[in-house]
Amino acid sequence: MKNLSFQFKKVLVRVDFNVPVDKQYHITDDTRIQAALPTLNHILEQGGALILLSHFGRPDEKRKEDGSIDVARFTMRHLVDHLSKVLGRPVQFCDELTGEKPAKMAAALLPGEVLLMENTRFLPGEKKGSEELAKEWAALADLYVNDAFGAAHRAHASTTTVAKFFGPDAKSFGYLMEEEVKSGKRILEHPDRPLTAIIGGAKVSDKILLLERLLNLADTIIVGGGMAYTFMKAQGGTIGNSLVEDDRLELAAELIKKAADRGVKFLLPEDSIIADQFSNEANHKTADSNAVPDGWMGLDIGPKACKAFTEAILASKTILWNGPMGVFEMPNYATGTKTIAEAVAKATQNGAFSLVGGGDSVAAINLLHLQDQISFVSTGGGAMLELLEGKELPGVAAMIK
Ligand code: AMP
Repeated sequence: MKNLSFQFKKVLVRVDFNVPVDKQYHITDDTRIQAALPTLNHILEQGGALILLSHFGRPDEKRKEDGSIDVARFTMRHLVDHLSKVLGRPVQFCDELTGEKPAKMAAALLPGEVLLMENTRFLPGEKKGSEELAKEWAALADLYVNDAFGAAHRAHASTTTVAKFFGPDAKSFGYLMEEEVKSGKRILEHPDRPLTAIIGGAKVSDKILLLERLLNLADTIIVGGGMAYTFMKAQGGTIGNSLVEDDRLELAAELIKKAADRGVKFLLPEDSIIADQFSNEANHKTADSNAVPDGWMGLDIGPKACKAFTEAILASKTILWNGPMGVFEMPNYATGTKTIAEAVAKATQNGAFSLVGGGDSVAAINLLHLQDQISFVSTGGGAMLELLEGKELPGVAAMIK
């Protein structure tokens, strides 16, 4: 970004404005818009004009009964007022993605002006990575900036193909994208040690590649959340009605063995908060995670696990956290996730680098208002997960090629 001159330039910026909205289309969480502001404001302050492209929801999957796109529901127009407010200037809206209308509107833009384009996913060419579509979008602008980290793992027309039509001196990552990639690479390539990875969430199957990768990278792996019970069962524990993936038992045992062979500490929750129903109002108590009685299920890590995990976290210099420790959406099972979040915040305060990303742990951090106490909270769930798994992200690769 710093090497590009934006003055008098029209800049096509791919942002990730896929924000949650309520039934009246009011934005309920504008984190993604806020995260793009440093890039957008920089370009505007330098005297550039913005042409913004983003997807919003899944219009191609949630079609109307007659099979057509539900424009009223998925239009980017819902974002215009809010965007005008946060940018402190009017935002023009173009309800067509190709043809004369966007070409004319883009050509007429003056420095400091902003044009928001309609939802990129209204056109099938977006997901197909269409060259024709990308070329048409590229023709609207002099420069291309990609700040949509959340969509960087998709080889779509606006995230990847379009970059082809700009030379190396006419395209750049935005500030958010740069921070995201730098933070992920810091973990993968030059972490201060000890490096502790905290992996939670519902399923082992979603995190296999990440766990495999971490076995070659981390000093300590902490496993919590629903996925911990598959590991418990794999070691011969009784887990009652806890979440389990019976087809992953062998894999779980193998991961534990590999960790031991490589000298990686593999911490599972010694105890759990167990409940007799999947409900906040259910009877609940503490039990050993490998001795959950029939009819009961583990819904959070217990006090001994909280203590052991906190100690490991506080002894770390680099921390990666992906996935909650329990059903944190229900207050009675949120203590484990809250305790771990606070430990990560404290370790960060003591000088550790912490990255929270790739799943529901970001929601947990936001719920606890700890965003400012973590070194970096990723905005890109799936994209960060893939980056940490060691995959090449097409949206990143296209900018460098
Ligand atoms: P993920 O998207 O993989 O990060 O998983 C997050 C989901 O896992 C959250 O909705 C949690 O409620 C859920 N979860 C965490 N721990 C448990 C558990 N012990 N049993 C069932 N679900 C859980």
